[in-house]
Amino acid sequence: MFYPKRVPKFIDALFPQCLWRKADDALYLTVDDSPSPHTPELLEILARYHVKATFFLIGKHIERYPDYAKAIVQQGHRIGNHSYSHTRNLHETFFRDEVIRTEQLLSTLCASCTARQSLFRFPYGRFNFVSLRILKELNLTPVMWSLLTADFDASVSAEAVLNLLRSATAGDIVVMHDNEKSIQKLRAVLPIALGELSRRFSFNLL
Ligand SMILES: [Zn+2]
Repeated sequence: MFYPKRVPKFIDALFPQCLWRKADDALYLTVDDSPSPHTPELLEILARYHVKATFFLIGKHIERYPDYAKAIVQQGHRIGNHSYSHTRNLHETFFRDEVIRTEQLLSTLCASCTARQSLFRFPYGRFNFVSLRILKELNLTPVMWSLLTADFDASVSAEAVLNLLRSATAGDIVVMHDNEKSIQKLRAVLPIALGELSRRFSFNLL
């Protein structure tokens, strides 16, 4: 499967409704598919380098691993919505329900704290004009990315993931994953990448 790891800038102009990158000098780390049994390990690595990230949580995972979801908030990270069941289905009624159900779960984690922002990330980055309209109605910002680490891709080596992380530039929104496919690579390369990148950038929250 082909997908761009570095999203070209013209895409931003094609879909200006979505946030693709920021215009400042910081880096914006994002973690998708949380919580999972690997969340504590990712939180530990981030804490070691004093880095905060924005986590996009899957609703059914919040129900399954509520303590790990709470730990993300307690450790000062930001949380956004990554749908309830993480499917490719964008049918209007289904999609709206997926978003609202997860907004409700996020509000139980963080009723009035600043960790919760009105952010949504599409599963698999798939969207259409109907789903964009629904997010607008619900006052949620669709957050895409400018740099995809490909940590989930079995055909991409840990070294290649490290090199993608090293290629980060100012304002990049970087995607990593909190799942079974990614953890082995992140365990190996994320500490190295954070050590290097924290000398070049500050890390901001979305
Ligand atoms: Zn995802």
